[in-house]
Order: sequence, then structure tokens, then C-alpha cells
Amino acid sequence: MTLAYISRVYQELESRLPHETEYLQAVKEFLDAVEPVIEAHPEYEKEAVLERLIEPERIISFRVPWVDGNGNVQVNRGYRVQFNSLNGPYKGGLRFHPSVNQSILKFLGFEQIFKNILTGLPIGGGKGGSDFNPKGKSDAEVMRFCQSFMTELSRHIGADVDVPAGDIGVGAREIGYLYGQYKRLQVPTAGVLTGKPIPAGGSNGRTEATGYGLVYFLNEMLSEAGESLKGKKVIISGSGNVAYYAARKVESFGGVVVSLSDSNHAVYDENGIDLDIVKQLKVDGRERISRYAEFNAEATIIEGSVWNTDIQADIALPCATQNEINQAQAERLATNGVKFVAEGANMPSDSKAIAVYRQHGIHYGPGKAANAGGVAVSALEMSQNSMRLRWDAERVDEELQQIMKNIFAQCLNARDAYDLGSDYGKAADIASFEQVVTLLLLHGVV
Ligand code: GLU
Repeated sequence: MTLAYISRVYQELESRLPHETEYLQAVKEFLDAVEPVIEAHPEYEKEAVLERLIEPERIISFRVPWVDGNGNVQVNRGYRVQFNSLNGPYKGGLRFHPSVNQSILKFLGFEQIFKNILTGLPIGGGKGGSDFNPKGKSDAEVMRFCQSFMTELSRHIGADVDVPAGDIGVGAREIGYLYGQYKRLQVPTAGVLTGKPIPAGGSNGRTEATGYGLVYFLNEMLSEAGESLKGKKVIISGSGNVAYYAARKVESFGGVVVSLSDSNHAVYDENGIDLDIVKQLKVDGRERISRYAEFNAEATIIEGSVWNTDIQADIALPCATQNEINQAQAERLATNGVKFVAEGANMPSDSKAIAVYRQHGIHYGPGKAANAGGVAVSALEMSQNSMRLRWDAERVDEELQQIMKNIFAQCLNARDAYDLGSDYGKAADIASFEQVVTLLLLHGVV
């Protein structure tokens, strides 16, 4: 961060919000990447381009009271960060996880602006959620929580205003409950939420989209390097929707998924994980991955993070959560043969880990670009809802493939223009920044 304008903006942010560590991290990484663009455009300082982009348009924060299964009143905190609407209605998921706070939602909302514009579809950036922990809760508890959450959120969203969807802890079950409550409170419009259960107006292929899209993006990275997935060993972290469907797609292209994980354990099998078992445990049931060994004695169950192991692999797909890979773990990946990292989660590699990828020439596909398939199909769900029709799974998948190809092409252009090697991280930031700034400037001072 050598440019005076950039360091001033960052230092002001840091001194104002020293406790928002995740948000500061996301902004810093981004500012570092776009430095050459700012350098080429001294007029951006007078226009306060950066100051305007790092300030959310609006943050809504509210109380979520609900009654648990024992009849006790519980209170959680709910949020919606309406970050930027230059490119369309605020769009982004809701996360239900005990770690959720304003800093995490601001980092996610900020990244969403740039991810969303890369999809080529008219969606702005937002994110929301709650520190509610759905783990171990009954369906009835989750429903009551969702109803209370939506009772407040419903006044702030709308098909042309702000369209939430899922993220960690929020899947079709939660979206179903949220949508049910929304309809009781407001004029029902299907396009107000995406990731809906299919019979309730959801899109074919939305559940699979983030994982499939990640592998389509990875395929582009591989083919640019003259390689393919065939026979490659792939470590995947996580075992939720993103990880599971990424694993299925990797298999379909002839790759071998040697591990999957959850927050406590990793399962390892050098011959490839049996994804039917994972589906039964993690997708259909809400079980721990450590139970995998009960169904397949060949596999090894490892306690702790998969990134602390010495599994040999060619490709790593972090699909769990932010900052799951640090510097030492990235070094370990390089030592164990990993040549490609593509992120299914948002910001799973911390800044020092990304620096390690750069040093070792590891091809790096950042979440902002590589996991954009989910929100892209959400935008297609909005389109289908507006047209009151439904595309079949093949049609949605074709669109998704095209969108991921197009995102990669934008990264390639920026990479070539700024000579960035195999670092698609900086390339994605630059490609999206240029588009967002163009929009910002043509709207006047907003
Ligand atoms: N939560 C997902 C993301 O990080 C999807 C958001 C959406 O579909 O709106 O992009």
C-alpha cells in the first residue's frame, strides 16, 4: 500500500473501526489489488471513489426474540447490510452462525458487490444474518426463529429492493420458513428471496450452483495452464452444499476427492471419498462427518483442520469459512504438491496465505470470482420469478457454465493488462472495481 490516497483511506478506516478485523482485512486486500488502477486515475481521489465504496449505504440491526423448545425466551441479534445498489437490488445471503457480527457481514457484503458485478447480471451487494446457532435446534425452533427474524426484516426487503438468500446455516429449509412468514406480512412476491425450495418458486440448479460453478471456474484455470481435472487429487474442506456439489462435479470430470471435512474432523481416503455416504450424513441428515468411518472402514478420520494434515494433492478447494487457511497451512499445501487453489467459501485464505500462493506460483482463484455461481443462479431465479416461468436444470446449468466462463475471461483480461501471472485474486478485484467505478461515476455523487 504505497499510494498516498489508498493508505490515507485505509488508515482512516482502521482508526475508526479498529475492532472490525474481518472487514479491514477484506478492504486491505482489495485496496492492495486495485492500486495500479488508482494510480492510473488520480481523479478518483477528488471523486472520493474509495471512501464511497467502503461505506455501506445502510445497515439495519435488530433484535430477534423467540421461544425455544423448553419455553424459554431467547434473544439474538439480526442484521442486514445494504452495501451497494449501483448495479441493482442489494443481493446476497443470510448467514446464521454464532460468530456473526457486523464486521463479518460487512466483509461479506463488500465482497458481494464485486462478485455480483462479475456475474454480468444486474444485482447490487448486500449480506445479512444473525448470531443464532441452528446446530442442535429442532425444526420447530428454527421455524420460530426464522419467523421472528423475518417479522423485522420484511419491512426492509423486496424483489426490486433487496433480495436475501442462503449462506452458512441458511439453506432451503430456512428460506422456506422465511418466505412463509414474509407472505403473511407483505404482498407476496416470489422474487423477494432466492434459494427457495423448488415447489415454492425456487430455481432448478440453485442448490448445486456454487459447487458446480466453482469447478467450472477451476476447469478454466486448469485449461489455461494446459491441464485438466482427470486423475488429479483434490482436497475439499467443508461438507455443506458448496463442498458436496463441488465434490460431485470434481468426480464427474475424473478428479479424485481425497478429503472432506466439518468444523471438527476431516475424512481422508486416498482412493476417493464415497460421496453417497457424505450425502446421507451431511446433506440428507445433519450428522457429523466423523461418522463416515462407521460406513467405510478404509477411511481415516482426522481430528482438527484438514489444512493441518500432510495429505498430498494437486488441488485445494476451501469450501468451509473465512480465514480457514493461514500462512503456515498455505506453506504446507505448497510442500504437499498443491498447484491450484480455488475458493468455494468467502475469504477462506487469509492475506498471508494468499502471499504464499503468490510466492510459490500456485494458481489462485479467489472466492469473489470462483464461488460466484451461487449468486448468479440466484439472479437467474429472480429472472424466472419475474417472468413467472421455470427453466429446466439443463438450461440453468448451461447459463451457469457460460457465466463462469465469462467471469474467468474478465479475470484473464485484467491479468494480462496488469501482468499478474497466475494470481486471479488481484485480477478479479481489478476487473470488478473498474466496472463498479464506471457505474459510480455515472450516477453523480451518490
Ligand atoms: N451466500 C452466497 C454468496 O456468498 C449466495 C448469495 C445469494 O445467492 O444471494 O455469494
